[in-house]
Amino acid sequence: MSVPYRLCALRVVSGYETVSDNAALVLAAMIPVDILALEMTHVYEARAGMRTNASLETIRASERRASIEKWQARWDTATNGRWTHRLIPDIESWIGRRSGEMNYHLTQFLTDHGGYRKYLHRFKHEDTPECPECSNESEDPEHVIYHCTRYRSSAEYFPRPEELMAFMTESGVHLNSHPERSEKMRKGATRRGECLK
Ligand SMILES: [Zn+2]
Repeated sequence: MSVPYRLCALRVVSGYETVSDNAALVLAAMIPVDILALEMTHVYEARAGMRTNASLETIRASERRASIEKWQARWDTATNGRWTHRLIPDIESWIGRRSGEMNYHLTQFLTDHGGYRKYLHRFKHEDTPECPECSNESEDPEHVIYHCTRYRSSAEYFPRPEELMAFMTESGVHLNSHPERSEKMRKGATRRGECLK
């Protein structure tokens, strides 16, 4: 992938430079440039009347669907960014969401690249990957958010990994229907965000 395109994706989501291309593009909702180029070629060929009489709008929609399918297949079979894939398995739902804005701390959680000892140890910035509070437990996003003794009291208010994408893409529904839960979740997330700084 071209360096400027990758940097643009990382800038959009405020991600660490070590985040994989695949995860960065999904989080930023940026179609891989090679898939996008192929889509543009197909649209151009169709517009030239070489293959179809369909309207331009229909052609573009059809080619975009094909691009998303190719991108999804690539995301499903990628060998990196698997924590991100667990949280965000469905590209179409993610890029079509109307809520769930990205920020620096959220991206660290979604990518597993940030102020976690497991990550810092991997890049030789910490002596140990272990959580300072829990013995024999690596400090990664899943541990910090769901299992760490430091935040156990508010763990129930944070969506489980497999529920997170639905929460982020449909949060208006969840939050409006559960205002008390929403407030507790917000406080819990804020407390966890503080430990990532
Ligand atoms: Zn812990």
